[in-house]
Amino acid sequence: MISPNHDARPSGAPIDHLVLHYTGMQSAGAALARLCDPAARVSSHYLVEEDGTMHALVPEQKRAWHAGISFWRGVRGLNNRSVGIEIVNPGHEWGYMPFPERQIDAVIALCREILARHPIPPRNIVAHSDIAPDRKQDPGELFPWPGLAEAGIGLWTDAEADPGDLAADLAAIGYDTSLDPGPVTAAFQRRFRPSLVDGVADLQTAARIAAVRALFGT
Ligand SMILES: [Zn+2]
Repeated sequence: MISPNHDARPSGAPIDHLVLHYTGMQSAGAALARLCDPAARVSSHYLVEEDGTMHALVPEQKRAWHAGISFWRGVRGLNNRSVGIEIVNPGHEWGYMPFPERQIDAVIALCREILARHPIPPRNIVAHSDIAPDRKQDPGELFPWPGLAEAGIGLWTDAEADPGDLAADLAAIGYDTSLDPGPVTAAFQRRFRPSLVDGVADLQTAARIAAVRALFGT
């Protein structure tokens, strides 16, 4: 199945970001139908079902419509420069649940293939919530970012460092700190300190923010 919901990337735009999503719908079939419905005007390059079945919906050279209004490390409109993967999960609205191991294995294999084709730095492998913290929660705090990092997909750490200027550190990691600090802190927590996602920069969150900035090398 090929989604009609795509267009050309801007000429010369590099493909240097990878954005991970959950579908947030009641079934894989419902998500596939929506991602291929011209009226919905949304899509992704790939969709991965719970059992690991992978669907290629939009060619990587085309611009899929998955990120919406978004920002990361100074870049706006991440659809221009990213590959998007939708991972089937009901999400916070319909009964958020852990991602099955078979599904994650398939996501890792797909990411490895994408990374072999495009120069995507590890720090540009992001959650939809990272790039749109005021609008999005996906793929959420149950997504196994540590396991992906162990497999060579993206960056993660459970280290703690002496907190500095939190807003400066979050901006250096890549977040849009012109937004309210609560949602930005919550997005950081979903990704890097998932045990409590409340948008409050407690001591552990602050220490983790400093450690992630150091990990990102900025
Ligand atoms: Zn999303």
